[in-house]
Amino acid sequence: MMVVAPDEKIPIGVSSCLVGENVRYDGGHKKDRFITDILSSYFDFVPICPETELGLGIPRPTLRLEKINDTLHLIQPKNKNNITDKMQRYSNRKVTELICRKIYGYILKSRSPSCGMGGLNVYTNNDSSPDTNGIGIFAATIMNKWPLLPIEEEGRLSNLSLRENWVKRVFCYYNFEQSMFPKPSMGKLVAFHSRYKFSVLCHHEPSYRQMGRLVAEGKKSPIKEVTDEYKKLFMTALKREATRGQHINVLEHLLGFFKKEISTAAKRELIQSIEDYRQGYVPLIVPVTLIHHYSKVYKLEYVAQQAYLNPHPSQLALLSCI
Ligand code: SF4
Repeated sequence: MMVVAPDEKIPIGVSSCLVGENVRYDGGHKKDRFITDILSSYFDFVPICPETELGLGIPRPTLRLEKINDTLHLIQPKNKNNITDKMQRYSNRKVTELICRKIYGYILKSRSPSCGMGGLNVYTNNDSSPDTNGIGIFAATIMNKWPLLPIEEEGRLSNLSLRENWVKRVFCYYNFEQSMFPKPSMGKLVAFHSRYKFSVLCHHEPSYRQMGRLVAEGKKSPIKEVTDEYKKLFMTALKREATRGQHINVLEHLLGFFKKEISTAAKRELIQSIEDYRQGYVPLIVPVTLIHHYSKVYKLEYVAQQAYLNPHPSQLALLSCI
């Protein structure tokens, strides 16, 4: 069951230049067609350009990261302007504002000393070649202050497995928050867990068990503590790569629910589709679609409602690539 209605777009942050705004140092943009043409059907963008919001102007001298006395600084080499403190203060303020406003994901521009998530050149005072372990100051701030927010760079989203994982995390994060709104309760958490437990199992079995215990023993602790802990375990588990073997484990768990009801021919078809997926002959969407179909045919409500079978809009075709 998809909690998000198709006409309900999820708010996410995005580096302004990626949605075509002319905010770069040279007055240009870095419009990303996947973001503007495909993701825009599902997400409501909140464009943010830290450098222009800081008042650096368009066009402006380029910036770079420099290591001075072992700390990272944001410098305009042309005029030696050091804007580290200004950018850090802005970033702290902006992230606090975004937490209040509520967004459910973020796409950052790679290779920017403000927005890049990693692998940036860091220059030292001498002329030796730069290190390549820098993180943009705004990016580092949002990742540190909001570790559960699904964040990716536009370049990494061209990797289909990373793309599937990020989109799934955004939908899961949004659906969790919506399910607990306006006030969390144990009843809501139990209902959410019964729909999402297999989504977690395919990423990390220890978290799946821990979350099960948390829900079972939840009444002993204040509800806010329980839901905060659940959300942390949930979003952290989803960040881990789900392997083919872990997907097969979940598919076989789901198959177990069909024991009595299903015809021999249908069961054979399901088993064969899982085997074909194991061998790499078909993508995950094949056994997932069959299980979903038969769960509806045989009225297995519990299976049919599993978010694992419908983690994101099918038009994105993301289960066809893993
Ligand atoms: S990378 Fe970030 S700071 Fe640079 S132009 Fe794009 S949004 Fe602005």
